Amino acid sequence: MSVNKDFFDPRRDFNYDFESAGHPGPGWTDADRVPDTLVPTHCCFCGVQCGMYLKVADGKVIGVEARDFPHNRGKLCPKGVVAYQQVGHPDRLLYPMIRRGGKGGTLERASWDEALDYVVSRWQRIQAEHGKDAVAIYSGSSMTNEKCYVTGKFARVALATRHIDYNGRLCMSSAALGYARAFGIDRAPLPMTDIPLTKAMLVVGSNVAECFPVMMQWIWQARDRGAALIVVDPRETPLARTADLWLPVKPGTDPALLNAMLRQIITDGLVDEAYVKARTNGWDEVRAAVEPFTAEAAERLCGVPAERIVAAARLYGRADPSLVMHARGIEHSTHGVNNVLACINLALARGQLGKPGGGAMMITGQGNGQGGREVGQKANQLPGYRHIDVPEERQYIADLWGIPVEEMPWEGAAATEMVHLMAEGDIKSCMVVCSNLMVSLPDNAVVQRALQQLDPLVVVDFFLSETAELADVVLPGTVWCEDEGTTTNLEGRVIKTNQAVDPPGEAKPDWQIAVELAERLGRGKFFPYRDVRTIWDELRLASKGGVADYYGITWEKIDEQGGVFWPCPTLDSPGTPRLFTERFAHPDGRAKMFPIPYAPPAEEPGESFPLRLTTGRVVYHYLSGNQTRRLGFLLAQAPEPWVEIHPRLAEQLGIANDEIVRVATPRGAMEVKALIAPTIRPDTIFIPYHWGHRLAANQLTNPAVEPTVKIPEYKACAARVEKCAVTTPAATTAESPFVVETAETAREASAVSAATAGADAATTAITPGATENFTPANAPTLCPYAVGETKAPPEKAGKAF
Ligand code: SF4
Repeated sequence: MSVNKDFFDPRRDFNYDFESAGHPGPGWTDADRVPDTLVPTHCCFCGVQCGMYLKVADGKVIGVEARDFPHNRGKLCPKGVVAYQQVGHPDRLLYPMIRRGGKGGTLERASWDEALDYVVSRWQRIQAEHGKDAVAIYSGSSMTNEKCYVTGKFARVALATRHIDYNGRLCMSSAALGYARAFGIDRAPLPMTDIPLTKAMLVVGSNVAECFPVMMQWIWQARDRGAALIVVDPRETPLARTADLWLPVKPGTDPALLNAMLRQIITDGLVDEAYVKARTNGWDEVRAAVEPFTAEAAERLCGVPAERIVAAARLYGRADPSLVMHARGIEHSTHGVNNVLACINLALARGQLGKPGGGAMMITGQGNGQGGREVGQKANQLPGYRHIDVPEERQYIADLWGIPVEEMPWEGAAATEMVHLMAEGDIKSCMVVCSNLMVSLPDNAVVQRALQQLDPLVVVDFFLSETAELADVVLPGTVWCEDEGTTTNLEGRVIKTNQAVDPPGEAKPDWQIAVELAERLGRGKFFPYRDVRTIWDELRLASKGGVADYYGITWEKIDEQGGVFWPCPTLDSPGTPRLFTERFAHPDGRAKMFPIPYAPPAEEPGESFPLRLTTGRVVYHYLSGNQTRRLGFLLAQAPEPWVEIHPRLAEQLGIANDEIVRVATPRGAMEVKALIAPTIRPDTIFIPYHWGHRLAANQLTNPAVEPTVKIPEYKACAARVEKCAVTTPAATTAESPFVVETAETAREASAVSAATAGADAATTAITPGATENFTPANAPTLCPYAVGETKAPPEKAGKAF
């Protein structure tokens, strides 16, 4: 297999030689040097945002120490301890580049003046000929709040385009809308430090131990105090291996399981009727909707034995307080918003929201995935979580920015829709900021064609990502510790990152690049920033009175308190670590419950593609891998992807461990090593997605999206695995703990699906044979409106954000 298990061999020489991993460079063997400064900051990777000190000597980052911050308590994971090695990495982009000689040319060094003048002259010509919306911004959420804020303002004020969105669209948009609908606020309602207070944890679709390793300390503390752990996942992840109960759900079928658990809780008399009556709306509809979901009916849909579903409902339902935690496993779905709402229904029925250690908790993936979506770079949002289509919110921000409200663009295309607008020629140029679409978007052959249509494709990044390889102009940005600013972690805690060293070569902070472009566009007076603090102070004002109110958060308060939780509306407010203790954020103060129907994933297994492919992360890499694939230790541990196959399936197909096999879906095929693992359902295969080009799992994934938030269905599509020279569809047999799909169970599931979900589901019911409900060939257009068309501003009432 690809993961190097020998790393933990006691005979191994732990003086890791980075040169042997093919990454020589200055600063890589400096472990014995003495730092002259310890800079307090945070890890740049996942949403936990662990506190760390960077060791600096002679103006170079030479190492790291964990920092005793409230949410990581002196711990770092394998990614965190080597994050600093990006800083002096030999692959860093040091100067701007332009592709001379057109699309077939090569990227060559340019001066900043030449590169920025070229970009602006092209943009001005494109916008004069095709309208403002023909230029787009595709941004990222690994940047600080200040950078994200300036990027959003740059799009709306300097370019006057409505097409700006960010890569959090691919990560948190299902959870964001689910929480906004149910509670009126999109934020985890409680801090991680509350987790040890709970008596039962239901973890749905989250590989916490690999994706958020330091968060595990809070789960272990809860376990030490006797809390039960139930894990819902198609794979027996490291977390599931320690659980009291593992529910190996069939990818894409989660609502059947969650609805059946709620039905069982009702049957057992475990609903907190007083809480539901006093604090929620919609319970009667939810109660009626889950009635058809007996444990046996759910078993036929989701492949989890009925007795496990009943046991899980009782383990979770009898505990108080109890906590549901969920992540991309259920959110990367064409039903992602509904999946989140089904989790919330459980927590509300048990009366848990607002209790210490109780409720529901989304686990945000990217470092600043929370802040990135609330400071104004999302297609439908202005800073402070204001909605761009609500007149008074447009007016507030327009006044603050000093532009006529009529000039404020309306809602633009979601990130996944932008790709189609590029392919169709409506978007003619795009600036991609710290995002790697060529690895992270589904069906990436289509993405490549779309990006190659752009002229120019401009990429701001600090390494030459797979997306930057296609760019016409590359602008070198900074890594996190070459600038200062704030991020908002997965708890909603605003924290401060500090500058340790200057940027290398001619690299510049991303916000400065935006300011210099704005000046060349003749809009410099709207970007009068001297430093990051002046941006922060404007952002605080922009958020004032909004849902995500940062006004009372000063950098000094962040240092004094160990971070500040929003909302923090006044200077004397300490912030709000725990939400909904007395009321929810809807006008009537009540939470909303939504009946959740069952519908299958957009693409189901059939004769040609009899398996389910699911994708995800491994502990050694972060998202598209543009950073972690360059760090020797991480690369050595996981140098390439693999496909996990259950031993029974492997035996049927005659596949051996480490054998190169071919994995195919309706969109394409890739060759990859087999990892025979008994920890995955026999009807499911798994590929981690951190690599590009021929190693990209997203060559295979389905571009079908959730209809409201447009998040792709990364976690479930139909697939086939075969020996490289043979094409043999697989058939699997049932055996506990998995109830594996067969033609007979598929027919039964079809009947249940139709009975439980009404006419909609009946039209997409499971049938034996190919049931590829949504493929590129039959997909409806994903773009709801044409470029240049102005959407009528909707009424504020009922607006979901
Ligand atoms: Fe960094 Fe996340 Fe690891 Fe903490 S858990 S060290 S934030 S990657």
